[in-house]
Amino acid sequence: MKKILQDYSKEELADMIKPSFRAKQIYNWVYHKYASDFDEMQNLPKAMRLELEEKFTLTPLKTVLVQDSIDGSRKYLFELYDGHTVEAVLLLMREEQYHDDGSVKHQRRYTVCISSQVGCKVGCAFCLTAKGGFIRNLTAGEIVSQLLMIKKDNEIDANRRVNIVYMGMGEPLDNLDNVAKAIKIFADPEGMAIAPHRQTVSTSGLSSKIEKLGKMELGINLAISLHAVDDALREQLMPINKAYNIESIIAAVKRFPVNDRKRVMFEYLVIKDVNDDISAAKKLLKLLDGIKAKVNLIYFNPYGGTDFKRPEEKDMIKFQDYLTQRGLLCTIRESKGLDISAACGQLREQERKDTDAGY
Ligand code: SAH
Ligand code: SF4
Repeated sequence: MKKILQDYSKEELADMIKPSFRAKQIYNWVYHKYASDFDEMQNLPKAMRLELEEKFTLTPLKTVLVQDSIDGSRKYLFELYDGHTVEAVLLLMREEQYHDDGSVKHQRRYTVCISSQVGCKVGCAFCLTAKGGFIRNLTAGEIVSQLLMIKKDNEIDANRRVNIVYMGMGEPLDNLDNVAKAIKIFADPEGMAIAPHRQTVSTSGLSSKIEKLGKMELGINLAISLHAVDDALREQLMPINKAYNIESIIAAVKRFPVNDRKRVMFEYLVIKDVNDDISAAKKLLKLLDGIKAKVNLIYFNPYGGTDFKRPEEKDMIKFQDYLTQRGLLCTIRESKGLDISAACGQLREQERKDTDAGY
């Protein structure tokens, strides 16, 4: 089987391909010019192109479905070499920038939400990705290629800044080695040059891996999928809480190195009549005391076969107001791509039903 070229850092390629300056040229073709064929690499000798073609693939993903949402987000379903599929989403989002004088500036930026695994072991009760169980980890190249495919398809200039969120399918910290490698490949100044502070890893709260990620000093942003403020409810929603309870997550977050201009994001999936009451907001405020935190309230996105319900807008606003009035930064995630079932796993599920493919 051919190797995936995007699995390798520039330094690794330089060790494999001689003379080593060729690695830089290849990186430029792949990450700046979005080459999908070695034959395009005209500044490489023909013999080398043929040799590379035999050893490597540049296209580990095949686009099987693209869905546009009326709000401008675009969702992709990619097929891997072994026939499994993963999702990624291109979003145009309002971004906040914090300045030293305390002011906040807004601008619109591309954000790409990418997957780190096929399926997921964590098994959250509300999540569609969890329903099919865990299949396998993605390689670094399969992670990196999701963004490459999207940039190429949308003709996004190589120099245009994009943000990356590891919020697609899978638990990124359960595939830490490959995710860490992808973070570094994305960040290579001669590649896509997406600095780690433009990348956010979202985790269900594997405390020991949060510590490990922190020790790697990558400069990455952290998002915690909290969703509940007491252990009993969190265990019901997220069985992983039995292994890593709320206290252990908070302790790990407190030790995590946070970029000066950033905050740790706490995602709070709001489910009607489950965790949408003000008493939860009160506990949340207490829990995050002393942490440079930002809360992101997410509307639960219902799908066929779930008993969980989307919360009422008025309850979302009440929850948000409670926190912001007490000085905790809190946003409500715009219901991006609701009409294309934006939450992770939902496009794949739809495709599976349509084609009756199964795993
Ligand atoms: N495994 C990681 C990252 C992928 S999940 C994590 O859990 O953080 C990314 C986000 O999608 C999580 O915050 C998760 O709670 C959310 N999500 C899952 N199912 C959802 C649904 N039906 N509606 C809205 N958000 C959902
Ligand atoms: Fe896995 Fe995240 Fe879904 Fe939980 S919410 S099952 S951790 S992908």
